[in-house]
Amino acid sequence: MLAHPRILIAEDESGIADTLQYVLRTDGFVPVWCPTAEEAIAQFTAEPPALAILDVGLPDMNGFELFKRLQKLPAGAEVPMLFLTARSDEIDRVVGLELGADDYIAKPFSPRELVARVRSILRRSGRTGQGTVTATAATPAASTPHLMPFALDVDRMQIRYYGRLLELSRYEYGLLRLMVQRPGRVFTRDELLSLVWDEASDSFDRTVDAHVKTLRAKLKAVAPEVEPIRTLRGTGYALNEELPPSV
Ligand code: CA
Repeated sequence: MLAHPRILIAEDESGIADTLQYVLRTDGFVPVWCPTAEEAIAQFTAEPPALAILDVGLPDMNGFELFKRLQKLPAGAEVPMLFLTARSDEIDRVVGLELGADDYIAKPFSPRELVARVRSILRRSGRTGQGTVTATAATPAASTPHLMPFALDVDRMQIRYYGRLLELSRYEYGLLRLMVQRPGRVFTRDELLSLVWDEASDSFDRTVDAHVKTLRAKLKAVAPEVEPIRTLRGTGYALNEELPPSV
């Protein structure tokens, strides 16, 4: 971890901002509070933070718009961003990952949980004191943490696994992309259907299972000993967070 990573907070509610600043400071971070999106953009431009926490409901711009604006800044693609949201429909948008955001925290949140999440994102993004992230893909923000065996190239709709380019069908790619972007996050079959398939009504739970099965076979062909996709019986699937960095 860098000595005192700067964490930008775009949040208009001072009570929440105070709590965030307090817990982050206690944990050795340097919080920078911006009550508006405009201010966040100015701060981010002046000195890019190690990570940015974006409230979805800001007075002058919503958090998604702010995210897009920040991403276009020179350092924007390298800074992990975390959404703060109180509404489940907003969570759906974050989870849809059209934006490629790193994560979200639902309000009300536990301050300890938030700090733990910030730490794990910084660790995953490689900001551990050995310099900044090595960008291997064309779109670093949307690429996977480099410790994982997966390398995602959203522009080309390609995924490499232990260096090997996977030949995936459209739905296999969609499933794996979602999981790779959120290691450890459990996706229910319903979520996968609605996020990956165009017309969920035409599909069934076993459609997801069938595609996961063919996907697993392709992964197994690359690394027979590794099982990157976990099945949660009766629930859905998640990408294993603990995977060997090489095979
Ligand atoms: Ca707000």
